Amino acid sequence: MRIKEKVRNTIRATVLANMIYFGGLAFFDFLAQVGSPYIPSSQIEEKISEERKFLNIYDKASIKFTSIEEGTVGPNAYSHKIKDNEYKIALSKGFMNLSVLRHELFHIADGHLEGSEESSYISRYFRILFWEEPRAIFYSLKEKNRT
Ligand SMILES: [Zn+2]
Repeated sequence: MRIKEKVRNTIRATVLANMIYFGGLAFFDFLAQVGSPYIPSSQIEEKISEERKFLNIYDKASIKFTSIEEGTVGPNAYSHKIKDNEYKIALSKGFMNLSVLRHELFHIADGHLEGSEESSYISRYFRILFWEEPRAIFYSLKEKNRT
């Protein structure tokens, strides 16, 4: 059946394209993180104030750190806007490294946490996957040799 075959080939191509895209993203994220120095939770806020200078994050903005307890369901690392000029970066123990910290700071600096409540779920989804995540991953990869 020609139509069935066309549909099957389209699905196959879509799945393949997705695998290449997400595999590539995961690979570059892995490259950025491998060997990245561990930062003890007691030093993370100090590292945040050092790193934010490279990203020109507005001086008045406060960025707090919280650790994600072991066994918590959900992401291992994320950044969150609490209110104007107030942000939070949360990391679980295995993700307390310079690469992940830069990645999350980039989300704040590049405005990824601003105004997201207005956009629809679908456009937000595509913006995260095809714009925000690759940019944050490549930022931490690009800065990798700066310690
Ligand atoms: Zn991210």
